[in-house]
Formats: sequence, C-alpha cells, structure tokens
Amino acid sequence: MSESAPSSQNREDPATSSPLRSVRGEGNGRPAGAAEAQRAAELRALLQRAAHAYYVLDAPLLEDPVYDRLYRELLELESADPSLITPDSPSQRVGGAPAEGFTSVEHRIPLLSLDNAFSFAELEAWYRKLLRALDREPAAEAPLPALAMVGELKIDGNALALSYVNGLLVRAATRGDGERGEEITANVRTIASVPLRLQLEHPPAWVEVRGEALIPDASFAAINAERQARGESVFANPRNACAGTLRQLDPRVVAARRLSFFAYTLHLPDPGPADSSAAHGEGGGDPPRPTSQWQALQWLQAAGFQVNPHRERLEDLAAVERFCTAWQERRTSLPYATDGVVLKLDDLRLQDEAGFTQKAPRWAVALKYPAEEAPSRLLRLSCQVGRTGVVTPVAEFEPVPLAGTSVSRATLHNADRLAELDLHGGDTIVVRKAGEIIPEVVRVLPELRPAGARPLSLPHTCPECGSELVREEGEAATRCVNSSCPAILRGSLRHWVSKGALDVDGLGLKLIEQLVDRGLVRSIADLYRLDAALLASLERMGEKSASNLVAALAASRSRPWHRQLYGLGIHHVGEVNAKALARAFASVSALAAAATTEPERITAVFGIGAEIAQSLSQWFATPANQALLQALGDVGFSLAASPEEGGDQVGQGPLTGQSFVLTGTLPSLSRSQAQALIEAAGGKVSGAVSKRTSFVVAGAEAGSKLTKAESLGVAVLDEEGLRALLAGAGASVEENGASGSDR
Ligand code: NAD
Repeated sequence: MSESAPSSQNREDPATSSPLRSVRGEGNGRPAGAAEAQRAAELRALLQRAAHAYYVLDAPLLEDPVYDRLYRELLELESADPSLITPDSPSQRVGGAPAEGFTSVEHRIPLLSLDNAFSFAELEAWYRKLLRALDREPAAEAPLPALAMVGELKIDGNALALSYVNGLLVRAATRGDGERGEEITANVRTIASVPLRLQLEHPPAWVEVRGEALIPDASFAAINAERQARGESVFANPRNACAGTLRQLDPRVVAARRLSFFAYTLHLPDPGPADSSAAHGEGGGDPPRPTSQWQALQWLQAAGFQVNPHRERLEDLAAVERFCTAWQERRTSLPYATDGVVLKLDDLRLQDEAGFTQKAPRWAVALKYPAEEAPSRLLRLSCQVGRTGVVTPVAEFEPVPLAGTSVSRATLHNADRLAELDLHGGDTIVVRKAGEIIPEVVRVLPELRPAGARPLSLPHTCPECGSELVREEGEAATRCVNSSCPAILRGSLRHWVSKGALDVDGLGLKLIEQLVDRGLVRSIADLYRLDAALLASLERMGEKSASNLVAALAASRSRPWHRQLYGLGIHHVGEVNAKALARAFASVSALAAAATTEPERITAVFGIGAEIAQSLSQWFATPANQALLQALGDVGFSLAASPEEGGDQVGQGPLTGQSFVLTGTLPSLSRSQAQALIEAAGGKVSGAVSKRTSFVVAGAEAGSKLTKAESLGVAVLDEEGLRALLAGAGASVEENGASGSDR
C-alpha cells in the first residue's frame, strides 16, 4: 500500500447533478464574476463555521447532506475558477483542527478523506476517472473493463489510527486535520473491540490499523437520556456523541459508554532486512501478507480486530450497484448508523498505481445513500388557490434529488409559516423529503442570502381573479372569497369529477382549464350542458373522446347519493363523512333542512361533530351554493338516494315506493321537516301532483295542488294524518334522528 502523501492538485470533479449548478452556469475555467466570488466567500464562511461546530464542538449547525451539497458547490466554483481557492478554504483541508486538552500528534501517513458520489451516474463518472488514472480507459462505446472492488459499509463514526509496535498498542489518534490528530490512547484502550496486543505469532515491528469508532444506536439513546436527565445538552447524532466521548478527559467515562470499533485499513510496511518480524506471514499460523483489500480485512480479523461482516467482493459495476441498493434498504436493520457504502479497488498494487488526489485516494469512493435533506436556491414564490378559496404559498426552487426523486416545489402552508421562515428572494433553503412524505422547506440559510434580497409574503389580492384576499381573525388560512374565481371553479370541477366523487373519465386538468378559460363552464351543472360537437372543437379533443366524455358525464348522473354529496366539496365533508350523512339524510333537501334549522340532527349522526354541522349550515346558507343546487336539479340531478342504491340502505324504509306532495302551512312541521320525516321513512317528496302521487299533505292555505289532488282522487292528509301514517308504517321518528313528534 502506498505510504506517500498525496501530491496531485487534480480536483476535476465528475459531471455532477448539483442542484445549484445552473444558477451559476457551467464550470468553464473562466474567471468568476463578482457574484460567484461573493457566493464562494459566503460558502467558505458558512462551511468553516459548520466544520468547527461539527469537528470541534461536536454540535453540528447543518445537516450532513446539506453540508455535503454546499461543499460540493464550493468545489465546483473553485474548479471553474481556481483563483477563488483560498488557503483557508474547507476544500484545502481534511476534517478539523485537533482539540485542545490532548496532545497533538503527527500522523506517519496522512489520514485522508473519501470522494463522494451521490448517484450511480456519479459513481460511474468516478470509475471512469479511476480507469483513466490506471490508463485503462476503453475506446468510445466499448464496455467498461471490470475491476474487482470490495464493498464495505460506510460506518458513521469517527476514524481512528492505531499504531502497534511489536504487536502492542502504543498510540491511538483521531484523524484531526489529516496531518495531525489528538492522541487519545488511554480512551481507546477502554474499547473492548480494539486489541491491546495483536494475536499474531510474529507481529510486525510497526503497523498502523485504521477503522471507525462508533456508538451503537441503543447506547446513543441511553447517553442522551442520561444527559437530558442531568439537564445537559443532547448529542445530535451517534457520530457526534462518539466524537465527544473520544475526547473525554476521563477514560472511565469512555469505558462506561461502550464504544465499538470496526477495522478497515491496514498499513503494513514492507519488511526491511533488519526487521525482526521479517518472517511474518512466511510461516506459522499468521495470515499471509495481503495483496488485496479483501485479504487485508482477513488479516485484520486474524490479528484480533472486529471487521464488519457485511463486506463483499464485487466483480464489476453491476455487482457494485446491487450491493449499494441492497444496503440502502437493509441499513435500518443495523444496530448502528451508516451513511453509505465505501467501494475500494481490491488489488493493492493497482491502488498504488492509482494514487491520491490532494484530499482522497483515487481508488476509493463513498457512495452516499439518497439524502433526505438538501440545500437549494429559491427561484420564486407562487400561490395556489384551492377549491375552497384557500391560498397556499408554494416555494419553487432549483430541482434537487431527495429520497430518490427530483423535487422542485414545496408547500409553505400559510402566511404564518412564510413569516416564520423569513424567506427572502433568492434565498438558499434547506428542503427535506423523507420517503413518501410531502417535501417541505425546513429553514433558510440567511448566511447565503443575496445582498439586497427582499422579504417575501403573500399577495393582498388573489393571483387568479384579483379580488382582495381575506384572512379571518384566528384563522391560519388566507382565502379568496370570490365564488366565481376561476381557480375555485377549476378546483370544484376537478373535485366533482374525481374518483371518489362522480368519477368522470376523460375530464382532466387541461380540459377543465380550457372549459373555464373560454367561459364554457361557469358551474358544475354546466358540464351537463356540453355537447359532443362543442367538446370536439377543443384542443386535444377528437370526436371519439368528445362523445366518450358526454357518455361518461351522463353515466355520472347515477352515482350514489353519498358520492354526489362528497362531490359538492363542502368543507369537512370528505368521503367518510359524506357516507355517514347520506345514510342519515336521504336527500340534499333533507340535509339542508336539518343543517339550517336543526343542527342537532346533524350532530346526532355518528362521527359528525359541531364543526361539520357549522360548515354545512354555512354552505347551505350561501346563495351561490343554493343556485348550484338549483342548477344541478335543472340538469337532472336528484341529489337524493335512489331506491336501487344497495348497501347503505339509503332511502329504504316503510314508505319506500310512496310519493308525497306538500302544500300549505302545517301547524307544527315546517315544509322541510315534513319532507325530512317522509324521506327518512323511505318516501319521496315531489313538487307536482299526478295520478301516481300517493298522498298530498295539505296545511293551511293550501292552493291549487290540493284542488288537483281532489280532482284526481289522490288521498289528502293533514299533519296529524301524516304523523299517524309515519307511526302506523312503523317509522320511528327518533330512529331517524328527528325527535320531532311535537313539531
Ligand atoms: P466522509 O465522512 O464522507 O468520508 C470519510 C470517512 O469515512 C473516513 O474518514 C472514515 O472515518 C469513514 N468511513 C466509514 N466507513 C469506512 C470504510 N469502510 N472505509 C473507509 N472509510 C470509512 O468524509 P470526511 O472527510 O470524514 O468528512 C466529511 C463528512 O463530515 C461529511 O459526511 C460531512 O457531511 C460531515 N460534516 C458535516 C458537517 C456539518 O455541519 N453537518 C460539517 C463538516 C463535516
């Protein structure tokens, strides 16, 4: 293995997918403009502060992936214009300065960092660079030659360099700045998995073993719990806890924290002629002198070290990808933290040939697991107006890869959140997305704010219709209250045709936009007045799709009552509540009557509370909604349960099949209460008397309907008669939530 310090200044980076790249333009070696120089200076200052907090104080300021991405951005700026590199740039050093309180020791062989890859594309770019360094680049289009690699887990702990003289542990040091580290031998002696004496018959005169000290998750949780109980600050993650522990001045504290150690690098010098261990590896039970990383790991294990068992010899890039993908999934089952996998060229002779860059070996790379946090640059703040008129601020930013997808937008929820974030134009923001969770803007990095940036807030007027936005006292939401706002209409239409509601196929967002923009549809009811010829004349519509849509709309008229109710998009009336309400109230008129005059009948429904009752009463009291119900009635919607509706027994009752007409004023029941009672018992109420009418219920000042009933011989009931009929038919008024026998 090479012991020479890396010398190359070559830091060409692979083609990267940095989210911040396009803001600055491609790296081209040209001198940077003032904006780039300013950005580089700001990045340097922030990264320096973050590195100090991380390496020295063990209390990070930034999330690791955010640090990594900003660091990468600085590298790109520096590679585009090397005059931006300053001697104190974080790119010019490894790790942090040794801490005070320990003796600073020089490393015999510098402890370098590792190059990072954030995707398989970057991994392949790294591999191509390795092939170039080894003079094995294939001709264009030719397949990449395979080089055997060792895949290891990238343990998220702290690197240690352990020196053994004639088999005895004589020194343990942290990485420090790579050249000098802290001498922490007394502390490391307490780590049970670090052998104090190598288990070899002929130990070498000197050998250095490197590896990762770590705190398992369970110990980490216990340490933080104890610290919290003592009122001390908690560690941000196991890596920081481990670093803090290794720097304890009292080894007994270290011993109590039960650190662990995995060895992964062996520096075994060539035996000189005077070396008493020259026989090492030549005989006895000792392992042979390694010629590959794989054998080095075996050697370490034989010498008494704990070597991570989850290592694999990988024959080509395809095997490397399989290994990484598998561990990305399996890593959560490990009892300690890992943040990626490390790939190392197996053949030590080839490693020597490939050599080092200034900061890292060319023959190894860390492939990081997909980040769940990343920095990005805000491009603009836009606003979405939903179907209820709520205005939601949305951050649009440079696309970033997060948890396996590219993310470029995140909701900022409301004006309060916007103010809390203190978002300014052009801000660098931290975005998070974990798995399937909706992306969010976690915070902004004010250190990287462009000079003169202005604070951002919600507009005062609706971005869609220009009307004044309203924020009610005590409400988080800001709303557009113009019921004819095109955004609200589009949202209502989308909701009406959605799967859980009327489920109309072929009416997508683009078509809805056209219909609204051209003024062809001004309410949900207008959808049912569209004809195929008109639809066929719209963009991206043909005759076939137009006639299919007309048929789909026609079919949607027979959707169950609870889905029609859900489709109206009343605040708080989601699919579940719509079902519960539809089961209790057989028609929209019954529901409206209860909502406006007897909210207790609404709250009597299982699972429905006062907030929903309130929302319903507001909805039915709004003239625009009354007009909508009227218009839906005009295009043939009953907005009531049909007798055929199976399953939830809506409309089924002792009066099923009987039709009623109400006329005049009843002594105690209002028209809508009477209707609700009839419908709850399964009867139907209609507006006109015909031969098929079963009963006319007449009160004082009954008009022509009563006359017509008499002429057709239809039975006429007064309120008492109706109550008797309901009672006689076995319709329990209470059962239906209308305890109205005295009304
Ligand atoms: P690194 O941690 O990305 O990679 C190098 C290190 O990997 C080695 O030093 C070694 O300790 C470790 N490692 C684990 N398993 C290994 C294995 N099997 N083989 C070889 N090495 C293995 O790079 P770095 O130079 O140590 O530091 C940069 C890291 O520190 C980044 O991850 C960065 O996010 C973090 N950092 C974070 C902040 C912050 O503010 N959050 C600040 C500075 C640095």
